[in-house]
Amino acid sequence: MIVMKFGGTSVGNPEMLRRVGDIVIRYLHEKPVVVLSAMSGVTNRLIEGTELAEAGNRDGYLETYESIRMKHLETIRELGLDPSLESEIGDFLNSVLNLWKAIEALGEVTPRALDLISSMGERMVVRIFASYLNKLGIMAKSFDADEFLITTDTHGNACPIYKESKELFHKKVMPWLEKGGLAVITGFLGRSKNGRVTTLGRGGSDLTATFLGNLLDAHEVWIWTDVDGVMTADPRVVPEARPLEELSFVEVAELSYYGAKVMHPRSLLPLMEKDIPVRILNTFNPDFPGTIITRGTKRQRGVVKSITYIKDLTLLNVTGRGMLGIPGIAARVFKTVSEKGANILMISQSSSEQNICFVVKQREAQNLVDSLKKEFELEIYRRDIEGVEKLDDVAIISVVGAGMRGTPGIAGRVFTITGKNGINVIAIAQGSSEYNISFVVDGREVEKAVKSLHRELIE
Ligand code: ASP
Ligand code: MG
Repeated sequence: MIVMKFGGTSVGNPEMLRRVGDIVIRYLHEKPVVVLSAMSGVTNRLIEGTELAEAGNRDGYLETYESIRMKHLETIRELGLDPSLESEIGDFLNSVLNLWKAIEALGEVTPRALDLISSMGERMVVRIFASYLNKLGIMAKSFDADEFLITTDTHGNACPIYKESKELFHKKVMPWLEKGGLAVITGFLGRSKNGRVTTLGRGGSDLTATFLGNLLDAHEVWIWTDVDGVMTADPRVVPEARPLEELSFVEVAELSYYGAKVMHPRSLLPLMEKDIPVRILNTFNPDFPGTIITRGTKRQRGVVKSITYIKDLTLLNVTGRGMLGIPGIAARVFKTVSEKGANILMISQSSSEQNICFVVKQREAQNLVDSLKKEFELEIYRRDIEGVEKLDDVAIISVVGAGMRGTPGIAGRVFTITGKNGINVIAIAQGSSEYNISFVVDGREVEKAVKSLHRELIE
């Protein structure tokens, strides 16, 4: 059995849904369980509409509603599906509109309501696709994952819970599969123990697919997307970038963390546990073998696999000679950051202990500076801490590859390349996993840096 997940662009219009239908037929012998993301742009629009409703912008959300409605109705018509489907989809659209009206009246939205609304895109597309498969003569049925996928109640970023989900899956979906039916399942959504709809975070359909892969002991999980696999670099920056044939779970984890949109960051865990391989495949180029991701420790010594970057970041620097040897400063810095819910992307502290610097998203930075100044008010007054400095518009570049581990000279090569190309390195960090070397540069130098590193380390 194989779990196949198709992302938003793969199901973005009638033409694409036909392609996906062809792919499913081609692999029917693999007994696929199909997981779908919402049609491209739909989740974004559901979230935007909710924000417009909250802001009291009725014309705005009505327009959003209309665009979502048209997208689905046109798809149903173009695929020549049963008109009764229009009213079924209409019910979902109506509930979205009613929720928006309620939010407009209240002037506020809760994380719960937002999850309920943003889950609608998946609910609509699975019905459309199952109906299309029926039309092609395939015994297919759609399933809403909240029937069986139980999660934590962390709305907007929920985690699946195995035991309960497994039992429910066996009750709700298994009988259909045992009859030889094909299940088309909503990605992204689940239900908390107290019965509320949750979502697994943006891009969460990957996690639905890998979680199901685990529950079903799938042979493999196939993630169908719109590129030929995991690339050696972002092809928009490096035209010479090429797809990688194989990668290990740890490498993909590093890549996803550092900005490559490979897979939802938490989606590999369910597979690592059971050693189930993932393939990244291209819906637009289905004959291409794509990238296979396995535990695979067939390490190629010294090999750099991919260069990634994240832009629009800020480097924060807490400095002061009075920090020397005083325990607890770092703990207080990071406690303050976590209380603000900000995510730290990279940390570096020199052993002189006179500064702690770390990188966060630019939009979170000012708020953090203010909170840190407050937290260290006394130390700043005493001049133990000089201040909290902020450097905007920086980027992190990461050089990733499991083969870098224990190979001397990689860091030397990386920084020789940046030096030769006149790129100033602002801060450096290497995880002790040695699977990546990451460093901070001025945002304007990203392209040059990524290009030259790719040329000399990969091409
Ligand atoms: N539709 C959801 C999103 O856009 C989930 C997914 O695409 O995986 O985030
Ligand atoms: Mg998506």
